Amino acid sequence: MSKILTLDKLKEIISTLISTKKRVIAPVLAAGKYFYRELSNSSEAVLESWIKPTSSIKEFFFPQHEKICSYCYTGKELVLSDAELFVGEQVILGSRPCEAASLPVLDKVFGWDFQDRFFQERRERTTVITLACEPDDFCFCTSVGLSPDTDLGSDAVLIPLGGGEFEVRVFTDKGSMIFDGKVTESDRTGKISNRPEIKFDASEVQRYLLEHFGDEVFDRLSLRCLGCGACTYVCPTCHCFDIIDEGGAAKGERVKNWDSCQFAFFTLHASGHNPRSNQSARQRNRIQHKFRIYPDKFGSILCTGCGNCARECSVTLGVLPYIELLDKKSKTAVASS
Ligand code: SF4
Ligand code: SF4
Repeated sequence: MSKILTLDKLKEIISTLISTKKRVIAPVLAAGKYFYRELSNSSEAVLESWIKPTSSIKEFFFPQHEKICSYCYTGKELVLSDAELFVGEQVILGSRPCEAASLPVLDKVFGWDFQDRFFQERRERTTVITLACEPDDFCFCTSVGLSPDTDLGSDAVLIPLGGGEFEVRVFTDKGSMIFDGKVTESDRTGKISNRPEIKFDASEVQRYLLEHFGDEVFDRLSLRCLGCGACTYVCPTCHCFDIIDEGGAAKGERVKNWDSCQFAFFTLHASGHNPRSNQSARQRNRIQHKFRIYPDKFGSILCTGCGNCARECSVTLGVLPYIELLDKKSKTAVASS
């Protein structure tokens, strides 16, 4: 038997969570676009499966700006104080499945040589309820081993049935607790009829990238790139950050801010030398990192096929055109050998 939830019951769940001081996050409409935002009431949530929010849920685990510690001189004595870790509980409702799928991928880098407790505390204290996706032309989740209703990183997924009803598929105890007593049993099940076609062979691309580090594809396609970094900010798996001190000599804060490998300053050395001195090298780095270096090191592709990088790019570039061309070149090379 499947579990059925109505939209009214879902709004009731949101109201109860807010009234018990949980932080509830869902897609909301703001200035004509959708963003994941903390809700102040249930009516703000937009829960249609075809919505593709501009922002990523990563900011609720890895904020754009975060204090690590503060420093203060009292006379000649330096006093350092650790920043407080996140202590509340948060529930993300209506996340795209490809957003949730980025979380186990990010766990690897934030729990590798350094245990990032800021990220890890948020992960432990967050429940993620996804909404099965209606793919558009930018989506390619099936090419990286995922699907519009994937369970990776989700505590439960809602599959729209139409008429303001959802089938609820629960994957964890956290997910089960959210829907306890709110669902009815039925023999109806949701269907995902529209899955993106597979656009490339990721293992072929990984192999080709190893043997063709500086392929001409990077020079050719990167001519369109403006170096704005938007693709990295809206990407659920991009995680570069910078640590700086903000304040004066007497007191201030050490903070962690999002950075981007698409900015010219990102790799600029104090000597003035820049090992990635043009946009081709910066785009090459992004593709090599996502489709070869990260998979080699951690066993996961650093991309969930969400399509945000092209959908939100002012020249509609993103990673897919590179990968499709590299895939084609790899297959041609195999066929002619
Ligand atoms: S690919 Fe697009 S979004 Fe990314 S840096 Fe270039 S222009 Fe900006
Ligand atoms: S690289 Fe593009 S498609 Fe892949 S996860 Fe990032 S934004 Fe999504």
